[in-house]
Amino acid sequence: MEVRRQIEVSGIVQGVGFRPYIYRLATERKLKGNICNTSGGVVIEIQGPAETVQNFVETVPKEAPPLARITNLAIREISCNGEQTFSIIHSHAGEEVHTLISPDVAICADCLREMFDPSDRRYLYPFINCTNCGPRFTIVRGIPYDRPSTSMAVFPMCAACRAEYEDPLNRRFHAQPNACWDCGPQVELWDSAGRKIDVVDPVAEAVWQLQAGKIVAVKGLGGFHLAADGTNRAAVSLLRERKRRVEKPFAVMVPDLAAAREICEIDAAAEKVMQSAQRPIVLLLKKNSDLVADEVAPFNRYLGVFLPYTPLHYLLFNSGKFKALVMTSGNLSEEPIAIDNAEAAKRLRSLADFLLVHNRKILLRCDDSVVRVVNGVTRHMRRSRGFVPVPVFLKDKQPAVLAVGGELKNTICLTKGEHAFLSQHIGDLENSEGYGFFEEAIEHLERILEIQPETIAYDLHPDYFSTKWALAQSAIRAVGVQHHHAHIASCMAENHLDGPVIGFALDGTGYGTDGKIWGGEVLVADYAEFERAAHFEYVRLPGGEAAIREPWRMAVSYLARHFGDDLWNLDIPFVRNLDRRKTDVLLQMIRKEVNSPLTSSCGRLFDAVAALACIRQQVNYEAQAAVELEMAVEPSDACGSYPFELVLDGDQWIIGTRPLFFALVEDLARGSSKGTISARFHNGLIECFAEIASLLRKKTQLKQICLSGGTFHNAYLSQGLEKRLAEDGFEIFTHHEVPAGDGGLSLGQALVAANRDKG
Ligand code: ZN
Ligand code: ZN
Ligand code: FE
Repeated sequence: MEVRRQIEVSGIVQGVGFRPYIYRLATERKLKGNICNTSGGVVIEIQGPAETVQNFVETVPKEAPPLARITNLAIREISCNGEQTFSIIHSHAGEEVHTLISPDVAICADCLREMFDPSDRRYLYPFINCTNCGPRFTIVRGIPYDRPSTSMAVFPMCAACRAEYEDPLNRRFHAQPNACWDCGPQVELWDSAGRKIDVVDPVAEAVWQLQAGKIVAVKGLGGFHLAADGTNRAAVSLLRERKRRVEKPFAVMVPDLAAAREICEIDAAAEKVMQSAQRPIVLLLKKNSDLVADEVAPFNRYLGVFLPYTPLHYLLFNSGKFKALVMTSGNLSEEPIAIDNAEAAKRLRSLADFLLVHNRKILLRCDDSVVRVVNGVTRHMRRSRGFVPVPVFLKDKQPAVLAVGGELKNTICLTKGEHAFLSQHIGDLENSEGYGFFEEAIEHLERILEIQPETIAYDLHPDYFSTKWALAQSAIRAVGVQHHHAHIASCMAENHLDGPVIGFALDGTGYGTDGKIWGGEVLVADYAEFERAAHFEYVRLPGGEAAIREPWRMAVSYLARHFGDDLWNLDIPFVRNLDRRKTDVLLQMIRKEVNSPLTSSCGRLFDAVAALACIRQQVNYEAQAAVELEMAVEPSDACGSYPFELVLDGDQWIIGTRPLFFALVEDLARGSSKGTISARFHNGLIECFAEIASLLRKKTQLKQICLSGGTFHNAYLSQGLEKRLAEDGFEIFTHHEVPAGDGGLSLGQALVAANRDKG
């Protein structure tokens, strides 16, 4: 007795080798039927003996190709027909709507083996790939995802490649970037003026130059890297100097896990992430080893480490000459990464001695992703290559919304049905290149996802470029979303919560509904609305932006607030080291309220404590003082915590910092260590937030807490607070799919705007 079933598979099942996989499963079992792509995924019809069909259905999700992600299987009985074989039905042009395009994927084990097999026809070929690996997102121009709509269109396949491409049982069946030495892209080495250097083996020459301490721009998947030998102090210093990057840590690429283990601590969870198909940069605790030059990540206990992910990277390391290569984005400071050969030659002329380029075009830039593994959970610091454009799967269907993000670490987000698509890391919108990239990313994502937004969501800050852009799109309804509300909504969305929840939104800067600069906020929120339940007391931000670059200003601001003119009598190193003249000017500004907006920022509180503890007076990159204060922590059970005070003002709790600064100054006068001071400060915050959580539970009966905002990139604080709140019986939700910082903001904006819509 035969049965026939129809199986609708949704999720990421196109362009990932899913159809050949099903073809193989069916033919192995001698089952009949067909498979074809649809707008929502694939539809399979399968016919044969009931037991075999059942076994087939059960196997489908179990052995799916590595890049497939099945979100739903809908199965129904249909009537049998006379079909005698199993076939792949080619969809008609226009019908094949690829809703989910795969991200770029690291070279797979099979391709790696072939590349180093002297008898393989792709021996040492730098662009080897298959349906399980290679570029996707960064080479797509439009949909459907087919060779003509990728940057591989200009490389007609040779007979051998075409045969693989057309064989359903081949690993390269419909692998759009399929290529070989005969028909595909090639590598060239250029000098810094953009002239081709005539060498037999450009890769070997690049290796030789790197070994000699030179800086080589290497074209990767989503852009150019600037590479330098990470064990060579002079080379790394030269790179810093040329890139005008003073202290912000560089990441290093290492040949394999063993090499990573020599320089860093790696646990099982981190190991798994490092080897994943996404190959993000993973922040790891440094070991005491002098292998990697100190200049790579100064003043930092952590080091960003990643494994090679393109065939070309593996060829560079195959020389055996490098234990670690600094691989930093090919750009000047915060500008977008260079992607085009000619553009790179122009922009990187003063930065690189050589360029290792190739003629497969990168159509869209996509930086490396950065993660940190805390409590066994992957936390995104920057969600980009390898993850984009995989959507965040939402609990409910949403209208089409474009959310434009914030100002720094910008990403944008488009919603469609149950999917929220976040863009790659766009970065800072302050420079004109960044702004151009922002517009390009919106246009590209709307096109490949076929989304025409009905609503635009933007941050309330009137000066953000993203806000101005949103308000200029007069044809579409625009909804302003408060920054910290967006942070909490983002955390709710990826955790499939409806709210209301208690939300801790801690970060550096976000425009408040009262026009002040918020940043240490406790909200009671659902998607549509929020109430500000508690926040840090306001202090002056003397000099505005300048105070963000110079943490000592925040320290003076807090001391002036809590000690008045007595601050000069404080017998602590910070005060003794103050420049009297500069400080008097600052105190005048504060007193006269000139260019000194009020802020409840948590980031600025970290800055003040870091400055007072003589850890950092001026920063060279965003959040440097807070990062170094975290690095200084020397935890011990007995070290205790600094006190805060909670004062009820109307229906808001104000978190007072006076007791904190009195205790801190006493410690400083006594000469307590930086490690102890930092630990007490962190512990104090944890105690204070735990108390607020309890007060709010009494008031609202809510038990679910969302933690969001850039401050939660601080592992000591997030670990400690999560543990403490869990002990108190709360349900804690954190970010695991998008960054807690402003890189995840657009997701929350979209959900808030969508739900205001409904209301
Ligand atoms: Zn492969
Ligand atoms: Zn070929
Ligand atoms: Fe923020």
